[in-house]
Amino acid sequence: MKRILIVEDEPNMRLGLKDNLEFEGYQVELATDGKQGLSEIENGDYHLVLLDVMLPEMSGFDVCKIAREQGIKTPIILLTAKGEEIDKVLGLELGADDYVTKPFGLRELLARIKAVLRRGNDLDADTKEISIGRMWVNFSAYSGKVDGEPVKMSHKEFEILKYLWENRNDTVSRYQLLEDIWGYSEQPTTRTVDNFILKLRQKIEANPEDPQVILTVHGVGYKLLHH
Ligand code: CA
Repeated sequence: MKRILIVEDEPNMRLGLKDNLEFEGYQVELATDGKQGLSEIENGDYHLVLLDVMLPEMSGFDVCKIAREQGIKTPIILLTAKGEEIDKVLGLELGADDYVTKPFGLRELLARIKAVLRRGNDLDADTKEISIGRMWVNFSAYSGKVDGEPVKMSHKEFEILKYLWENRNDTVSRYQLLEDIWGYSEQPTTRTVDNFILKLRQKIEANPEDPQVILTVHGVGYKLLHH
């Protein structure tokens, strides 16, 4: 599940957005001023931040600027007010990924969120190597390395690993994996999923007998821990 942080001082806007985004299947956390927002961005693991510009304590621009100066790459969509056109340009120069002008329609915001999340995913997963346990993975090249040596992995193993990584720190059920990786046409059993996880663990875990990266969530499925 994608986690979104909303930094917004107006209670109605904040709670309205929260309800709507939760309804759309996002996990939502809230911050009410700039300082709190920045601290959440620094310490939380968010896929996206909706950041109001006019905030108490610290403006959205400053939050954005400081976060980027610290090397934090979490996508940020600024919520600007009408008549802040100059500010929008400034916001993008400060490292925001997009902006939406209030008042905005929910549908427009959702489209922007999806687009930014997709871009973020592509950037994360397709343009760089990610360290997962002992392995360095490049999902676009379908390649993995352990201790500098290429690791042999099947296409399916990559797909499962990528899926777990995209849902990192969340529990993914065996059925979710079956449905999303194998699809309805094929009919593997949940045992098949378990076998693939075993194979992945042998490559990723320092000690496959005592997994610390791909954890078993008993009775449900698996969770990839990534910080
Ligand atoms: Ca405000």
